[in-house]
Amino acid sequence: MTPGTAHPHLLQPLDLGFTTLKNRVIMGSMHTGLEDRFYNYPKLAAYFRERAKGGVGLIVTGGISPNRQGWLLPFGGTLNSIFDVRNHRQVTDAVHEEGGKILMQILHSGRYGYQPFVVSASAKKSPISLFKPKALSERGIQATIRAYVRCAELARKAGYDGVEIMGSEGYLLNQFLCARTNQRTDRWGGSIENRMRLPVEIVRQVRAKVGPNFILMYRHSVLDLVEGGNSWDEVVAVAQALEKVGVTLFNTGIGWHEARIPTIVTSVPRAAFASVAARLRQAVSVPVAASNRINMPDEAEALIASGGVDMVSMARPFLADPQWVNKVASGRVDEINTCIGCNQACLDHTFANQRASCLVNPRAGFETELVYRQTTQKKRVAVVGAGPAGMSAAAVAAECGHAVTLFDSSESLGGQFKVAMQVPGKEEFVQTLRYFTRRLEQAGVKIRLKQRVTRAQLTAKSFDEVILATGIVPRRPSIPGVDHAKVVTYLDVLQRKVTIGKRVAIIGAGGIGFDVGEFLLHDPAVALPVPLAHWCQEWGVDLQAQSNGGLVPAAPAQPYRQLFLLQRKAGKPGAGLGKTSGWVHRAVLQRNGVEMLSEVEYTRIDDAGLHIRVNGVDRVLEVDHIVLCAGQEPLAELMPDAAAQALPGTPTFHRIGGAALASELDAKRAIREGAVLAASL
Ligand code: FAD
Ligand code: NAP
Ligand code: SF4
Repeated sequence: MTPGTAHPHLLQPLDLGFTTLKNRVIMGSMHTGLEDRFYNYPKLAAYFRERAKGGVGLIVTGGISPNRQGWLLPFGGTLNSIFDVRNHRQVTDAVHEEGGKILMQILHSGRYGYQPFVVSASAKKSPISLFKPKALSERGIQATIRAYVRCAELARKAGYDGVEIMGSEGYLLNQFLCARTNQRTDRWGGSIENRMRLPVEIVRQVRAKVGPNFILMYRHSVLDLVEGGNSWDEVVAVAQALEKVGVTLFNTGIGWHEARIPTIVTSVPRAAFASVAARLRQAVSVPVAASNRINMPDEAEALIASGGVDMVSMARPFLADPQWVNKVASGRVDEINTCIGCNQACLDHTFANQRASCLVNPRAGFETELVYRQTTQKKRVAVVGAGPAGMSAAAVAAECGHAVTLFDSSESLGGQFKVAMQVPGKEEFVQTLRYFTRRLEQAGVKIRLKQRVTRAQLTAKSFDEVILATGIVPRRPSIPGVDHAKVVTYLDVLQRKVTIGKRVAIIGAGGIGFDVGEFLLHDPAVALPVPLAHWCQEWGVDLQAQSNGGLVPAAPAQPYRQLFLLQRKAGKPGAGLGKTSGWVHRAVLQRNGVEMLSEVEYTRIDDAGLHIRVNGVDRVLEVDHIVLCAGQEPLAELMPDAAAQALPGTPTFHRIGGAALASELDAKRAIREGAVLAASL
């Protein structure tokens, strides 16, 4: 097959009348944190340059506020003065030098701002905000419109090809659009005509200022997924009014940030909401892009080939792989580093006020700092352990020009990731294994599987450097009766080595305890990944948007097992899970009636079950099985002591990932540590 012919519709140019996009792929807006400080613009330019070089048709920046009230965070990225223009020039020049096109997103956060100047349609605090907003006055609204117009004009001066006006995810314009947040009785509230007046006025006045040859994309909320969200008729009426006053194309947004329905985490079925974008396409005559959980080209191609939508917008997949489009165009889909929807290094970082990066690509956001240079001193490198840390280290070391051998005692690559991908909703993790397998092969790494390496072998084979990435061993707590036949480990369960009964206690409520919970609750009669219709039923989503906001009563299936999830510490189980995904795991377990207990003392295990004491009260959990998910210890038996290291001819030993430190371990840290060490050899 000729390169790229498998995805012809995706790679087709899109003529917008006054300009042409080279393909149908948008890199959607993501806040990286770099846009907030002027001194980080060289890094931001390098980040976008890499993505433009990767062939994407249209890039959208992270949200830039038109004024101080619109800040997401104190002193967040703002474009309201001619002095800011030269910072943005670095970005637009970099993208244009690589033949790309870029829009600046204008984002006014409204009541979602984490700062004291917040404003909204009405003075109603959001459930996820610290600050109560002030309702904008008539004068305030006029000033806000002027700020948008000034911001768009400055973006034009800075060389952007257009702007995206953020009208979804529950930010200011969405707050004006919906009765949930707009309780005004003046000409900006009440009927949908009044509620849409602000976005319509903004688009009208921006268009008048910037002229016809400037892309004006509007990110429209097509499914609010909150009570008091808009009906489908209102969504359409707004889009048609916006089109009339000058929108060039629509991007689509799904769900407000405060919605209690997941919209982008890995357990959301791929392209789940594309049909809603396709419905909008029927109602307008300008192009429409589908968004959310589109991460691989086959789904993207199918969406465009069907004529449902004109473009696809993918954000996180471009953190994971800047070369996504070029790889599709040259028929190298198997080389794509797929975004697995974990949110661990992107959104979770943003919410923690850290720079966004990517679990599977630690260079994202660090393009100028984590550089894989060719070595001038080729070394013989042994990497022991082919989990995320070892695979990452071996790939980078080989790409830098070293001679690398990667050992693993098991039959295949992947380490614990092979276990993780057994968890319902984590099916995407298999993509990371496919990606690394291909990358290691291309980099010329010698792979030695089914070899449990000893220290003697490592020293005898005259390696210059040895990287120990041997991972962990599960912790076995010393509870009386822990050797009882009812007790199994998370590996026994997830590797399906045992048949588990209907009543189960899980010791340990960390990430693995929650995952084991979801695994045990899954009814094997339901296919994996979970079909879209089933997922919508479980969460109460109406893709036909018959009801306001697209919400219907959830109709979850009966719990498949009765579970207890236990921890010794005080506080909410799962408090340490990711900010943007932990609530989803907790919601699934709560919906299935899992009894979650904190401050538990494990007294013993016997034929009756698990004996515990909580707040001084003894209780027996009469369960068929007890699963140990009590954390992990480093496996670093191959590490020589200092005296042995000093012997002549001994290679230099390093430890990464779980082998270095098991607490707070995750694949993000493992992959990053592997890459950073290998780049420094
Ligand atoms: P490992 O993945 O443990 O790999 C170590 C490798 O070393 C193994 O393949 C082992 O066979 C090999 N080895 C050991 N000793 C030797 C020897 N002497 N000779 C040869 N080979 C040897 N992390 C996340 O970030 N996000 C998640 O959502 C997530 N979910 C998870 C769900 C589950 C159920 C589990 C079990 C883990 C999950 N993790 C998750 C954790 C993540 O998988 C680990 O943090 C990561 O795999 C650690 O990587 P590592 O390379 O250090 O070690
Ligand atoms: P973990 O998050 O450290 O949780 C271990 C659990 O075991 C805790 O609930 C702890 O709570 C309990 N525990 C610790 N020592 C114990 C003992 N001696 N006896 C009884 N209970 C004990 O580790 P994990 O769940 O094993 O996960 C391993 C790593 O994989 C984690 O670091 C995690 O980040 C990663 N992971 C991530 C995800 C994700 O979605 N991001 C998912 C899975 C795994 P108490 O001490 O209070 O009892
Ligand atoms: Fe995707 Fe996870 Fe990377 Fe974010 S951190 S871009 S969700 S793979």
